[in-house]
Amino acid sequence: MKNYQPHQNRRRNDRHRADHRNTPQVEVTEGQRFPLTIKRMGINGEGIGYYKRMAVFVPGALTGEEAVVEVTSVAHRYLRAKVHRIRKASPHRVTPRDSYADTVGGFELEHLAYPQQLQFKRDIVIQSLERYQPRGFKDYDVRPTLGMDHPYEYRNKAQFQVRQTADGTVQAGLYAERSHDLVDLPTCSVQMPVTMTVMRAVVQMLQDLEVPIYDEDHNSGIVKTLVVRAAANTDDVQLTVITNSQKLPHKHQLLLRIADELPQVTSVMQNINPGKTSLIWGDETRHLAGETTITEKLGGLAFKLSARAFLQLNPAQTEVLYDQAKNALDLQPGQTLVDAYSGVGTIGLTLADTAAEVRGMDVIPEAVADAEANAQANGITNAHYSVGTAEDLLPQWAVAGFRPDAIVVDPPRTGLADTLMDTILAVHPKKLVYISCNPSTLAKDLVTLTEDYRVDYIQSVDMMPQTARCEAVVKLSRR
Ligand code: SAH
Repeated sequence: MKNYQPHQNRRRNDRHRADHRNTPQVEVTEGQRFPLTIKRMGINGEGIGYYKRMAVFVPGALTGEEAVVEVTSVAHRYLRAKVHRIRKASPHRVTPRDSYADTVGGFELEHLAYPQQLQFKRDIVIQSLERYQPRGFKDYDVRPTLGMDHPYEYRNKAQFQVRQTADGTVQAGLYAERSHDLVDLPTCSVQMPVTMTVMRAVVQMLQDLEVPIYDEDHNSGIVKTLVVRAAANTDDVQLTVITNSQKLPHKHQLLLRIADELPQVTSVMQNINPGKTSLIWGDETRHLAGETTITEKLGGLAFKLSARAFLQLNPAQTEVLYDQAKNALDLQPGQTLVDAYSGVGTIGLTLADTAAEVRGMDVIPEAVADAEANAQANGITNAHYSVGTAEDLLPQWAVAGFRPDAIVVDPPRTGLADTLMDTILAVHPKKLVYISCNPSTLAKDLVTLTEDYRVDYIQSVDMMPQTARCEAVVKLSRR
């Protein structure tokens, strides 16, 4: 809550706006407490109740619960509050495995039993459809969310900030929500165990060797962030040390200790990200020890990953997700496919054996280079990747005469550009599969796409258990 801008300050900044926007509809002040019944859950996993008809968002509260809540911020149309005391708990409430689950982001649903988490994710898809109302939405086949048998220990990457306390203790973890206060995470139930083993061992080494740790207030010190990424299907592990400068004092001893005590680490890299910035990664990555990449196996293919290359965070569910994409595309021999927003080419390459030709694109040159290298390494000659935006390249390809039978899109949370949707409607492939990590932008985009396409079904896949994040595969067919 620390960096939260109180309502009074906002009002001062927004003086040019109509004043009523900043005045609550009802008389209520920060710190005020009242009883509240939670009616439903919002897209960020928070409980929602109503106080004198004002919506109140309460992180950590569950549908059906009765609680006394304390107002933490006041806006014109809604309030934010925290749970003061729960009077009647939901039968689905469980004790979070992580003691800090209500402090840092990424554990929004850890207090909710897993079957209900899966229901929540399907409900979020339905809520989004009801909000945007794409054509025929009431009849969509919205399938139950596919979850994990063991919804913990799945994350292949730990990316922790590193800080040093006044007494010299080195800590590594995540920021408390809306702040830059580091919460040290000695354990983390959703991380693959090897990522935590390596993380905590390296933290201890930094402390023992007195490697200077970054100090945000003074923009001094060296080590800012540690990133540990593990490949679930090969046991490769990469450590990247992100530093404030080219220097890494005691590098030699650090590398010796890593080689000695952490034989599971197959690659050590340094990324340089000088100065105060909200970005975690800098532009320059250097090789320190071992291999320069790690290899992950998915769908029978091997993918080499450089330190910055994007890969889905949950390897087990990635196979489930890609299987769903494959089923939905139902490619027939001889058909052509566009893998839009391709990352390192994982989706297109796993489908290349049935397709006559696969073309993909991504805006990150390194990812495209990795995709090309991955095609080659797997002996795939009918898949090609280009650098550029989907909205630029798809029209260019269409003009040059390439009209794919099928398109799979896997955009970031912002969804599809309008110009891309226009092109899709113009190119008019028989099959279209939309993989979405944001039900709101998905529902919004479906309003346009359903002008010409029918939604056959929506299959959500739980890629991020214990969080409110929801991923869905939508099969669309030409009307
Ligand atoms: N399909 C991949 C990656 C999905 S993440 C996988 O399953 O791993 C989304 C990707 O879209 C990112 O790699 C990002 O770099 C890329 N991207 C973002 N905006 C884009 C755009 N306008 N056109 C093409 N790719 C884009």
